[in-house]
Amino acid sequence: MSAIPEKPTLADWQRVIKETVAEKHWAVDPNEVFVLFAEEVGELAKELRKKWKFGTAGTQESAAGELADVFMYLADLANHFEVDLESAIRRKMEKNEGRTWEF
Ligand SMILES: [Mg+2]
Repeated sequence: MSAIPEKPTLADWQRVIKETVAEKHWAVDPNEVFVLFAEEVGELAKELRKKWKFGTAGTQESAAGELADVFMYLADLANHFEVDLESAIRRKMEKNEGRTWEF
C-alpha cells in the first residue's frame, strides 16, 4: 500500500490514489471511473435517506465510508484530467467569494 503522510494534503491523496489504482489494477477508463463514482454517490444517498427517513443508528460510520469512496473516485477522476484539486478548489472559492445566489 502507498505511504500516506501523517498530515496529507489533497495533492498527497491524489498521489496515493494514483499509486493505489496502479497497484490494485483498478479501473483506468475514466468513463468507467465516472460510473463507479456515480454508484458511490448513490450509496451515499442511501445512507442519507436511511438517516433522514428512519434515523437509523450507526449511519455515521456507514456514511463516512461512502464519503471516503466518493472522495477517492473524485480524486481518481481529477488525476485523469490532470487537475490539481487543491488549486481547483482554491480558484473556485475565490470565484464564489464575490458571487451571490438567490434562492
Ligand atoms: Mg461504497
